[in-house]
Amino acid sequence: MSKHLAPTPTMLEPHTLPDLHTPPHVITRGEGVQVWDADGRAYLDGVAGLWCVTLGYSEPRLVQAATEQMKKLPFYGSFNHRTNDVALALADDLAKIAPIPMGRTFFANSGSEANDSAIKFAWYYHQALGRHHRTKILSHDRGYHGTTTAAGSATGLGHIHHGFGIPLPQFHGLHCPDRLSPAGRGLTDEQFVDWLISQLEDRIATEGPDTIAAFIAEPILGAGGLIIPPAGYYERVQKVLDRHDILFIADEVITGFGRTGSMFAAAEFNLRPDMITLAKGLSSAYLPISAVMVGDKVCEALKEGSQRFHSFGHGFTYSGHPVAAAVARETIAILLERDIPGRVRAAAPVLANALDKFRGTELVRDVRGYGLLGAVEFDAAACGMATGELGPVMAQAAAENGLLLRSMGDTVVFAPPLISSDADIEAMVERLAAARSDVLTGRAVTSPARG
Ligand code: PLP
Repeated sequence: MSKHLAPTPTMLEPHTLPDLHTPPHVITRGEGVQVWDADGRAYLDGVAGLWCVTLGYSEPRLVQAATEQMKKLPFYGSFNHRTNDVALALADDLAKIAPIPMGRTFFANSGSEANDSAIKFAWYYHQALGRHHRTKILSHDRGYHGTTTAAGSATGLGHIHHGFGIPLPQFHGLHCPDRLSPAGRGLTDEQFVDWLISQLEDRIATEGPDTIAAFIAEPILGAGGLIIPPAGYYERVQKVLDRHDILFIADEVITGFGRTGSMFAAAEFNLRPDMITLAKGLSSAYLPISAVMVGDKVCEALKEGSQRFHSFGHGFTYSGHPVAAAVARETIAILLERDIPGRVRAAAPVLANALDKFRGTELVRDVRGYGLLGAVEFDAAACGMATGELGPVMAQAAAENGLLLRSMGDTVVFAPPLISSDADIEAMVERLAAARSDVLTGRAVTSPARG
């Protein structure tokens, strides 16, 4: 990238090595599906910020909703049975579109906080039922659930744990449902699902079913490299969990609010989770807000348990913040009025067809996608690089071609704003094709920035 603003040594940047001596890439403006950096360069945003700006960067209704609410009531919290009208109304809105038999919705501020909360609710649920030994949490290797202590423990990526003393001991990883993993090679989908389920059964037997509180999983694994589990996998998982009375928490922080072509992936894949965690698309990221949809079964136990414990000691100052809640209400209204999930269903083949052109070409190991999620996995070894080195190089080359993407290992991921036009999507993929040519011809810089 060319010039940037001066380095900002006063800011400790998340997910960035603190010893980096190069200044960060600074974004200063956004409109529609484009953003501009401090040097005035324009980029198509292929990953909607961090998979979250679903309605694009200039939705006036969201700005208006925030402004009006800020003038009317900028804050009132929700502790001790005093709350604000907007948080209550948002919970009603969510109850109307929930894909599970709903109890109530709990609000937090980030995906990590929502997942920490859901894990604590699973513990509270079992405590309330007198099952004091049910403390273990299962999650996928390469699953991403955030970085707070419990959510970070459930995250199955080593770099999230290193140096922080997590995972906590009651967290246990399950094999990632990745068709390209060595365990999946040469197997049909059905055989691979059989194998994954036998691993799950073995793990439950080894740990002891009455020690396991919950399984938390993303319907489609995002930050682990866009892993789409084989068909039928979660149906079989749910049967096993039901048999052992293990709660199922669906982390829909990425997949919620239209990304898969349904409002929720739970509906898209016929999942029956006990709790669903939501963030990102809940407010199109215009303000931080997240939620846990607590299903009726868990909610009933929380109610009963609270009689025994005489407390429900969980919540945040900003749980149900009225300004964030007003923006979330308006986001949901827009998603429904404009049938954004329908738009995603129409746009999904455009992204899939465009990405298909990479299939079988030099440096490409795999192409996959679902809804408005797409990934190209590159083969680092094919150009003499170590595993994990080529993805950041491709993302950097894409940026040089005016496209922002996320790289995870050697995979680059598309999660464009859900309002992207067909032409926007095609232009994004063309820019990745140009980036790949630059890498092949040696025009691109081949030492990735460390982050
Ligand atoms: N869960 C999933 C599936 C995510 O992708 C993320 C973030 O990318 C999180 C949880 C954590 O969300 P946050 O960064 O808002 O804490």
